[in-house]
Amino acid sequence: MANSAGSPDAIAVAREREKRLRSITRTAPDAIVVIDESGIIDTVNPAAERLFGYSRAELVGQNVKVLMPSPHREAHDSHLARYRETGEKRVIGIGRVVVGRRKDGTTFPARLAIGEIELEHGRLFTGFLHDITERENIQRRAGILQQELMHASRLSAMGEMASGIAHELNQPLTAVMNYTKAARRRLDRAESGAEPIADLVDKAGQQAERAAEIVKRLRRFIKKDESERRLEPVNAVVEEAAALALIGASDRDIELIFSLNDALPPVLMDRIEVQQVVLNILRNAIEAFEGTGDRKIYISTQAAGSRKVQVNIRDNGPGLAPSIADDPFRPFQTTKADGMGIGLAISRTIIDAHGGRLWAESPPGGGAVFRFSLPAGSASDG
Ligand code: ADP
Repeated sequence: MANSAGSPDAIAVAREREKRLRSITRTAPDAIVVIDESGIIDTVNPAAERLFGYSRAELVGQNVKVLMPSPHREAHDSHLARYRETGEKRVIGIGRVVVGRRKDGTTFPARLAIGEIELEHGRLFTGFLHDITERENIQRRAGILQQELMHASRLSAMGEMASGIAHELNQPLTAVMNYTKAARRRLDRAESGAEPIADLVDKAGQQAERAAEIVKRLRRFIKKDESERRLEPVNAVVEEAAALALIGASDRDIELIFSLNDALPPVLMDRIEVQQVVLNILRNAIEAFEGTGDRKIYISTQAAGSRKVQVNIRDNGPGLAPSIADDPFRPFQTTKADGMGIGLAISRTIIDAHGGRLWAESPPGGGAVFRFSLPAGSASDG
């Protein structure tokens, strides 16, 4: 054979390479599923067999849809067809969190990355799936959920307290205003001596201190978990919260699209609290989607300013209602029949308490964006 690729040496090299590759995929901890252009499974690795509970023989030759729950299952053929026609990359090269379906019908969130291989006789797609729930993590996650519940009850207590405090603060502040007004009136009257004015100013000062004490008490209440703060990797914290949000919304066809910066410094935070913020923003976005067709949430992380990490969550839903768009963080504002309108207010309190900032934007293309930044921590901060 003139072609050197067919020479015995070249064949031996190719065989060797194939053997190596096979050994890698066989031992890879992540599930690997290779499909052809029409979605038919070409091959799977042992991790995929374990993850989905099917044997290799049961999967090869099947449409990859069997590994997805509805409605993704029904939509997958048309996703593939659209890619064949338009070449528009919706998932390829972009990591995202999807829901997988095991043989026994149970579902789980997983991070999916897809690679494309161009061959002479067509194309193959390789999906790498990393189970985010991981069985050995279930215990820990149950703990997280438990803590979350405790946290939720604390948050609603905080909502009640916020209105109580607003009421309490009103009294000393009104008194301060009255005393200063009175002092002002006396100053206007030239005949009055300095003593009664000094007394009024003292009283105003005492009331202001009382107001400050109330605010301090509130801060102490909010900050009482500061001991639970640790240096955490922002990407993992955000991804885990997204998986939790997705579990609750797996019956709706929502696409989470991630663009996470791998080079971010860790942040000193209470992981549960920050996840509460992400979860709240994501649930709001998911709830806002009601009635609209294409549902996408873009989640990105980036470095911002000097030593800050920023998280951006953008949806393509209807956007903020005009009645609240000015300040969606004001407590007790809601457009939902059963809403309390404190989720965003509390989220802001949490981010503020971490020394960060949370804000919203209405992008020109529609939808809503929520962003928050947190100061990056160093080990010495802990
Ligand atoms: P709640 O969810 O109880 O209403 P929140 O404080 O979490 O309380 O949210 C306040 C309001 O902000 C919501 O009722 C909704 O109108 C609006 N909102 C929040 N996020 C979005 C979003 N992604 N798209 C549209 N509206 C949103």
